[in-house]
Amino acid sequence: MTINVLFAAHANRWAQYETPLRTALDAIGIDYTLGTDMAPETVDYIVYAPNSDVQDFTPYTRLKAVLNLWAGVEDAVGNPTLTVPFARMVDDEGLTQGMVEWVTGHTLRHHLGMDAHIVNPDHTWNAKAPPVSADRPVGILGLGELGTACGQALTGLGFPVTGWARSEKTIEGMTCLSGKDGLHDVLRQSQILILLLPRTPETENTLNRESLALLPEGAFIINPGRGPLIDDDALLEALDSGQVAHATLDVFRVEPLPKDHPFWAHPNVTVTPHIASETRPPSAARAIAENIRRGEAGEPFLYLVDRDAGY
Ligand code: NAP
Repeated sequence: MTINVLFAAHANRWAQYETPLRTALDAIGIDYTLGTDMAPETVDYIVYAPNSDVQDFTPYTRLKAVLNLWAGVEDAVGNPTLTVPFARMVDDEGLTQGMVEWVTGHTLRHHLGMDAHIVNPDHTWNAKAPPVSADRPVGILGLGELGTACGQALTGLGFPVTGWARSEKTIEGMTCLSGKDGLHDVLRQSQILILLLPRTPETENTLNRESLALLPEGAFIINPGRGPLIDDDALLEALDSGQVAHATLDVFRVEPLPKDHPFWAHPNVTVTPHIASETRPPSAARAIAENIRRGEAGEPFLYLVDRDAGY
């Protein structure tokens, strides 16, 4: 039987994804139609971006699963009409690898103090001994697909890494903590703190006045997770007092970051425009096709969203 796969995302995404999706669906050997316009009652799977026109899933009476194109699901997880299995994107070759590179790059920038040599208008010959990674504890909030991969990469470079998640974990080479006390322990020791939590009601303002005060003085913050994980005003105060030496921020409460937001002008903030990592169509298409293959074979879907937890 032919299965019908609806692509529900902005038109520019269709241009990027149509060929990779056809290649990946051809490779799993099923009979399918793929398109952007189908009668709702004929659709078996929706490849989905939460900002697409599809917001009411009620007419999709034959739907077997919704397969998200992105890792973040906060804009769809609360949709009461989305009742079928809902999978988020895990794209090891593309999204995960991209995040590892971005996080590692920004961690090394701060660890090595690269700015002092890149911006050196007085041409000062300031030859200090290079820092040692083993002396710079790194904390990672969020030990999911991305946090774990980043932690492993940084461990491989010699950094002592402590991570924090909702559940208890064991990850080789890293110290893993959970719970409120665990969060406080991670914060107290993290000279570089990386945020890779999802946005949920529980994670909002994880970094606030109280938690920022626990960091070692002069800590660096790197946030490729989500903007609302940080209380902006509390971060600005911590930057002004020197409690936080620098914040590299990729995600914001409002995106694009408004022109008059103080982050743009702050000398100790680096703003990057939500580019830390992007799903890459060929590998993401293979991940989507694998979930469709599983659905058709009666196997469990991969990477299902836990609606109660919100991610
Ligand atoms: P994931 O696999 O779902 O991992 C989320 C991690 O956060 C898990 O370790 C989870 O704990 C932990 N967590 C969730 N709620 C928590 C809480 N209340 N307290 C403590 N820990 C909590 O997600 P992912 O694929 O790694 O992605 C993480 C986030 O990165 C995404 O949600 C998205 O916001 C962001 N992202 C950003 C970009 C970018 O370009 N800037 C790109 C992709 C993704 P458990 O392990 O115990 O469940």
